[in-house]
Amino acid sequence: MKKEELMRRAIALAVENVRQGGGPFGAVIARNGEIIAEGVNRVTAHNDPTAHAEVQAIRAACEKLSTFDLSDCEIYASCEPCPMCLGAIYWARLHHLFFAATQHDAAEANFDDAFIYREIALPHSFRHLPTEHMTTAEAGEPFRLWNAKTDKVAY
Ligand SMILES: [Zn+2]
Repeated sequence: MKKEELMRRAIALAVENVRQGGGPFGAVIARNGEIIAEGVNRVTAHNDPTAHAEVQAIRAACEKLSTFDLSDCEIYASCEPCPMCLGAIYWARLHHLFFAATQHDAAEANFDDAFIYREIALPHSFRHLPTEHMTTAEAGEPFRLWNAKTDKVAY
């Protein structure tokens, strides 16, 4: 499938999801023009605030391909990803992101993630979410163990 067809599929998924009672977001993950996985927003259906279309598609693609590395795939999102999904896209190492509607379009529909983008840029003490750096003697132990581990699966 061509890029435009893949994007139209992501948008069609979003449209159908609204008709089914879900949020107005869809995503498609493809490799060499072939759809690997699809996702739609399932936040309210699953009572899962992380069930955004892009995350759903990444989970499905990784399960299908039995990998946590999607560097040979690309993602088509019906809307510009929120900070969580953008982070997930980076973690999944997708090599290209295409999006249709913008975060401003989403904000007009009361999905305003500009707030989160602004929060990320702030020092902890200026964020709306009270955030405290708590140090303990054990705080570095997970990384000490990880760094010393010779048989780890790096990711
Ligand atoms: Zn998202």
